[in-house]
Amino acid sequence: MITKEIQVKDYLSKSKIGTYAINPYIGCPHACKYCYACFMRRFTLHSEKWGDFVDVKLCQTPINLEKIKGKEVFISSVTDCYNSLEERYKITRNILSQLVESDCYIQISTKSKLILRDLDILKKLKHLEVAMSVNTLDENFKNDMDKASSIADRLKTLKTLHENGIFTVLFMSPIFIGITDYKKIIEETKDYIDEFWFEDLNLRGGYKKVILAYIKEKYPDLYPLYEDIYIKNKKESLYANDKEIVKFCQENNINFKAYFHHEEVMKSKEKVQGHGKNKFVQTSLF
Ligand code: SF4
Repeated sequence: MITKEIQVKDYLSKSKIGTYAINPYIGCPHACKYCYACFMRRFTLHSEKWGDFVDVKLCQTPINLEKIKGKEVFISSVTDCYNSLEERYKITRNILSQLVESDCYIQISTKSKLILRDLDILKKLKHLEVAMSVNTLDENFKNDMDKASSIADRLKTLKTLHENGIFTVLFMSPIFIGITDYKKIIEETKDYIDEFWFEDLNLRGGYKKVILAYIKEKYPDLYPLYEDIYIKNKKESLYANDKEIVKFCQENNINFKAYFHHEEVMKSKEKVQGHGKNKFVQTSLF
């Protein structure tokens, strides 16, 4: 892992729609094969492979709590704020300690059990949702896809957070049609999940080839379906699967938000009012 410390002026960055994001690191050692955030590599002029570098952001200026009062603050959209570097640097912990005094609406997205280290601070935050991505219960598939915490650890983490009064979101993303067993995941976790979110696999970056080659090799029976959806743009089966998920949730009184298509997540951000404690919807790249 190539690690570099960099100085930044402010941890906050404002999006076009008026929300704030905090990304304490650039890069992400979880190296998910389907990572939408890998564009950051080019954007930050890194020549290393996505997953092989992390820039640690150091900032001397305190977070301006006035600026984010009543606003939505999303931690983290293009990294995992609880990646392995956080164990040593405690940047996220430091940021959250500052946010304890704030009235902002915080959403943390992670795939790491390390978040439990900061339970003491999380419990003090006024408005908080924690989203954890889980798109399989199969550890082998997970290991093929990323280097983050095991599925067992993610589920244990969500359960512990819930038991400590923190609003939990299981973010089923990305959904691999034919592989992601949404019913089994929901049934296994619904007792400690406050809200489920859904997002389909979107293959639009350089990783499209990688994922399709993976499906061809490991799930050859599914390859024609993936070819239809992601090469020939014939998406009927995808839409049918989306509908089934919604129907299942409705019939079983599952609290959920459907953001099946990533571009729609962004467009719908201002329109959708969730059932969650916080008033905003996710913009995660997970
Ligand atoms: S999807 Fe999220 S956790 Fe995975 S590499 Fe990208 S930023 Fe990291």
